[in-house]
Amino acid sequence: MKGIQKLIMSTEDTNTIKTNWKQILRESPEVSKRAAQKFQISKKWFGPAPELFPFKLNGYWLRLITAPDDPIGVQTFPDEKEFQETASASVDPLQEERYRKAPLIIHRYRDRALFLVSNTCAVYCRFCTRRRQVGRPPFPRQIQIMESLNYLRAHTEIRDVILSGGDPLMLSDSRIRRLLVQLRRLPQIKILRIGTRMPVTLPQRITEPLVKILRHFQPLYILTQFNHPAEMTSESRRACTLLVEHGLPVLNQSVLLKGVNDDPEVLLDLMRKLVEIRVIPYYLHQLDPVRGALHFRVPVEKGREIMQYLWAHTGGMAVPTYVFDNPEAPGKIPLYPCAGQS
Ligand SMILES: *Cc1c(COP(=O)(O)O)cnc(C)c1O
Ligand code: SF4
Repeated sequence: MKGIQKLIMSTEDTNTIKTNWKQILRESPEVSKRAAQKFQISKKWFGPAPELFPFKLNGYWLRLITAPDDPIGVQTFPDEKEFQETASASVDPLQEERYRKAPLIIHRYRDRALFLVSNTCAVYCRFCTRRRQVGRPPFPRQIQIMESLNYLRAHTEIRDVILSGGDPLMLSDSRIRRLLVQLRRLPQIKILRIGTRMPVTLPQRITEPLVKILRHFQPLYILTQFNHPAEMTSESRRACTLLVEHGLPVLNQSVLLKGVNDDPEVLLDLMRKLVEIRVIPYYLHQLDPVRGALHFRVPVEKGREIMQYLWAHTGGMAVPTYVFDNPEAPGKIPLYPCAGQS
């Protein structure tokens, strides 16, 4: 009897998963307001003030939060500390605006570029490096997309394009398909990547119809961002498995965050769980010194201790590269192993 009930429930689950990501997003403003009331978040975080990075979550993500200071709550709920850190931090720590070569193109490294096709996400992460533009207008327009594609066409040194934002999977399936078709018309672009937190923050977005579109544009890699083992649910596992089984490798880029995952056992657990579902731990990012997010910073020394712990307790497949980003460097800079280490 129990087995049958379980089976019925899982069939219901798959049925709702197929149809309801749009519904979850439609309800997200209302759900965010209710969550703010419940957890006593000030109304100002919904306001239009330009210095505020808006608060937004959705019904799926809310279910994972047990308290505002648990590892998922901390990533999601705004904190007054965001205002206390203006001196040493920048709104654009990576100087991306300097490298904005077309309306939506950040071209900083030799053979790869970011294409910022979306300005919104399913959840706004409080530590977001691009919080200066995420969650607020102006939203990418068709003319900007065309101009950006023209830049890519003219710059034949670019062989790897990363759709980013915001979250590109906030776009509809048909818009995503159109974009990928346009990119695949440029023969110099060998690799496509999509940077998306949807497998984590709204795994219902990863549908059969979506992956059936994406698989036509291989090699196409999915870069996602699990930060804590509590984010690994049956839904997120299903989403990653669906991607992988359609030939879309999933790579994970965690951000090292104080109060979330600055703990060797927590990251060891996360990395092992990722490998179990065939998601490859790619990067562990030292947080960029972005204004409003400094309270999430973890000292590099602590990060290195965690790296040492991972190497000592599991295999290389489960160990990401610990990196930081410097606007002057030709690529990400590894922080581990470091000189003088035995
Ligand atoms: C991180 C980043 C990339 C991708 O770097 P990889 O090391 O190839 O993953 C590309 N462009 C910019 C501007 C970046 O910040
Ligand atoms: S999903 Fe990515 S772009 Fe969106 S708020 Fe989070 S970190 Fe920023």
